[in-house]
Amino acid sequence: MGEFELIRRYFFPLAASGKHPDVLLGPGDDCAIQRVGKGQELVFSMDTLVEGVHFPKHYPPEKLGWRSLAVATSDLAAMGADPVCFTLAITLPRADPDWLRDFSSGLATASRQFGLNLAGGDTTRGPLSLTLQVHGTVPENRAIRRSGAKPGDLICVSGTLGNAGAALQFLDSDLPTPEQAQLLEHYHAPQPRLLLGKALRESASAAVDISDGLVADLGHLLEESGVGGRIDVSQLPLSAALVALRADAIDLALHAGDDYELCTTLPEMALEQLPESIREQLTVIGRVHEGEGLLVNGKDPRGNSRGYDHFEGR
Ligand code: ADP
Ligand code: MG
Repeated sequence: MGEFELIRRYFFPLAASGKHPDVLLGPGDDCAIQRVGKGQELVFSMDTLVEGVHFPKHYPPEKLGWRSLAVATSDLAAMGADPVCFTLAITLPRADPDWLRDFSSGLATASRQFGLNLAGGDTTRGPLSLTLQVHGTVPENRAIRRSGAKPGDLICVSGTLGNAGAALQFLDSDLPTPEQAQLLEHYHAPQPRLLLGKALRESASAAVDISDGLVADLGHLLEESGVGGRIDVSQLPLSAALVALRADAIDLALHAGDDYELCTTLPEMALEQLPESIREQLTVIGRVHEGEGLLVNGKDPRGNSRGYDHFEGR
């Protein structure tokens, strides 16, 4: 199978043109074309996943397809963006039809669910790695940045934390218990919080998605905003499965990555005015204050971890 045949067979079926009114062309030409409407801004972000670094060797290709798009799309959710399309640069050690079929199928499922389709890409040979660029739009000046948190704002998170991090322990398990399976689902199939992000566009002062751990990512948000914050560990949302399986559930919720939940700040009034269906997706875990740094139950939490850093300590 040649390069173009591979692209045509496994990637063109996911083509964006015709599926989103703003994607006028792609893939198949030298460039894709996306219309950017008046009063709209284009937001875009890129993520790379390398075998052996971001996912284990022999990771099931269907799960990889879902996960790679979910991880990238989570950044759009954090900005409150409406998804439009994505591009995919894929490096493959070989053209294995079974692998490609399953990968493309997982990618297509995620693509339909998140509402963003493939507008182009690049295909090369080498050690397995994927780079996805996602595109979204927001009304002018409405993107939720990391830098807007104000003293007095509440700090909230979506979902429950620490599940994906706990799942790393039994990623290879052939017969996971029901509780292990629940945690594994968080690792394999993270759900970018697109609807929540969009619903927060008018209310949130700042937001970040939690890819490297709550302490690390909330730390970035506070730093960008030039404020401090404190969180109360008794308020951290933990899943029943995590609490049942791990004595260090709180540590995982504070420091483990791969959750792809949202962490957002907003004034108390703004939270109260959110529709019930949105408010119930959020848990208040703390408050923003003047100054700098993050305190967890009154202490500096960074003894344990600053989140995953590819270059630190190497
Ligand atoms: P060019 O040489 O003009 O960059 P390529 O030969 O690399 O074009 O790709 C041909 C077409 O196929 C382009 O429209 C490109 O966007 C698309 N394409 C290549 N690889 C992928 C991929 N992995 N997923 C989606 N589209 C792809
Ligand atoms: Mg070209």
